[in-house]
Amino acid sequence: MENSSNLHVAILSSPGMGHLIPVLVLGNRLAAQQNVKVTVLLVTSAVSPPESNLLKLPLYHKLVQIMELPPVDISHLVDHSTKVVTQLCLMVRSALPFIRSAIAAMDPRPEALFVDLFGTETLPIAAEFNIPKYVYIPSMAWFTALTVYCPVLDQEIKGQYVDQPAPLRIPGCKPVRPEDVVDPMLDRNDQQYYEYIRMGKEIPLFDGILLNSWEALEPTTLKAFRDNGILRSVVKIPVYPIGPLRRPVETDSPKNDLIGWLDRQPKESVIFVSFGSGGTLSAEQITELAWGLELSRQRFVWVVRPPNKGRVDEAFFSVANGSDGTPDYLPDGFLTRTRDVGFLVPMWSQQVEILNHEAIGGFLSHCGWNSTLESITSNVPMIVWPLYAEQKINATFLVEEAGIALRPSAKEVVRRDEIASLVRKLMQGKEGETLRNRAKQLNMMATEGLRHGGTSHKLMSEILAKISS
Ligand code: UDP
Repeated sequence: MENSSNLHVAILSSPGMGHLIPVLVLGNRLAAQQNVKVTVLLVTSAVSPPESNLLKLPLYHKLVQIMELPPVDISHLVDHSTKVVTQLCLMVRSALPFIRSAIAAMDPRPEALFVDLFGTETLPIAAEFNIPKYVYIPSMAWFTALTVYCPVLDQEIKGQYVDQPAPLRIPGCKPVRPEDVVDPMLDRNDQQYYEYIRMGKEIPLFDGILLNSWEALEPTTLKAFRDNGILRSVVKIPVYPIGPLRRPVETDSPKNDLIGWLDRQPKESVIFVSFGSGGTLSAEQITELAWGLELSRQRFVWVVRPPNKGRVDEAFFSVANGSDGTPDYLPDGFLTRTRDVGFLVPMWSQQVEILNHEAIGGFLSHCGWNSTLESITSNVPMIVWPLYAEQKINATFLVEEAGIALRPSAKEVVRRDEIASLVRKLMQGKEGETLRNRAKQLNMMATEGLRHGGTSHKLMSEILAKISS
C-alpha cells in the first residue's frame, strides 16, 4: 500500500455485466493500489436478476463495498421497440432519487462521485453535495472522441450517418466510417440517439474523464484530447487513460474439465470463441461457424449459445440434443467429429482464466472492450466479429490501429470457408505470428504503464491528489 489517503469514493454502475465488471475492477484498483474506500452503487432492474448474483467472483478488496440500489421498474416506459441505450438511461434516470438518498446516508460521505457513461445525469447530485465528479468510460479514447464530438456532427451533418458518402471527421483522430458508427447513431430519429447526444454534451461538464485505455495503445487520439485543437475546445477537462483495467485471473479456483483439457494442449494452439455476456448469432451463422471451426482443423474452445430469436436469455431454457449429445442447433455429429480438437462450453465461461491459459493462441470475439483488453493483456491476437453497441469501431481499431486482429469481410452471414481460412491464418500463418507479437508488445507497454511511476499509475494518483486537495 502506497498511500493512506483514507479517501472515500462512490462509483455508480449502470445495469449489465459489461458495465458492472469494469466498475468493480476500477474500485478494486483504487482500493488495492491507493487505499481508497470505495462504495459501488449498483442500479438494478426489477425485471432481471441483480448482476451481483450473476457475478460469481470473489468480491474484491475489503475496502470495496457494493450497495445495490432499490430495483427500478421501467416496464411502463418501454415497449418492444425501446433500444438498449434508452432503456439503460431510463433505468439510471429512475434511480436518481435512490442515488441521491444513498449518498446522503453514507457515513463517511464520499469525497468524489465517479459514474459510468450512462450515469451522466447525476451532475446535479454531485453539485448538491459539492463533490468532484468524474466520468469513467470503460472503453477506448476513439469511441469517447466520437461520443463527445457527436453533438457537433449532429449540427454539421444532414441525413443518417450510415448514408454519408465520406467518413465522419473528428479533429485529430482517425475518421469514423459511416458503417462503423455506434448503435445509437444508426437512427437519428430514435430516442437512443437523443440520449447519446445528451451524454456527449454532459461528459465535458465533469471534472475529468477516466478511460480504460493507455498511452501506448492510442497515442494519436489521446494527443488529440490534449492538444489545443477543436476537440480540446469541446472537451476542456483532463482525460486520464488509466488502463488497462481488467479482472484479475483467479489462480486458486479448483481446476475444472476445461482447464484440465487446456493443460493437455500445446502452447498457443487453441482458438477461444466467445461473444461476450449477451452476444448470440443467427441459426444460419452458428451452422457456418461450426463448420468453419471444424474445417479449420485447429483446436478450439467455443462458448455456445442457441440462436437468437429475440431474447438473449432464451438459451437458459431447454435445448434438445442429438444422439452424441450435440445440441440440436449445431450440425449433426459435430461433437463426435471434433471430439479430439474442440471443447464446447454452454452459455458462460471463465473467460479471463481461459484467455490467460498458455494453450490459447487466438480469440474469435465480438470485441466488447472488456474482452478486447482481456485478450491483449493475455498476449492473444483476435478475429474480430462485432455484433452490437460500439463493437464495429472497436473492430476497426483493432485491425487498423492496434494491429492485433483479422476481420471477416462484412457480410450478413460469414461463410464456413472464410471462417476456416481466417482461423488457420491466425493460428498458423505468418500473419498470425505478427499479430501475436504485436499483442505481446502492447501488453508489455501496458504492464509498464501500470507499474508504480508508470503513465497509467501516475494519472490515477494525480486524480486522487486533486480530489484530496
Ligand atoms: N464474460 C465471461 N464469460 C463469458 C462471457 C463474458 O466472463 O462467457 C465476461 C468477459 O470476460 C468480459 C465481460 O463478460 O469481462 C463482457 O464484457 P465485454 O465488454 O467484452 O462485452 P459485453 O458483454 O459488454 O458486450
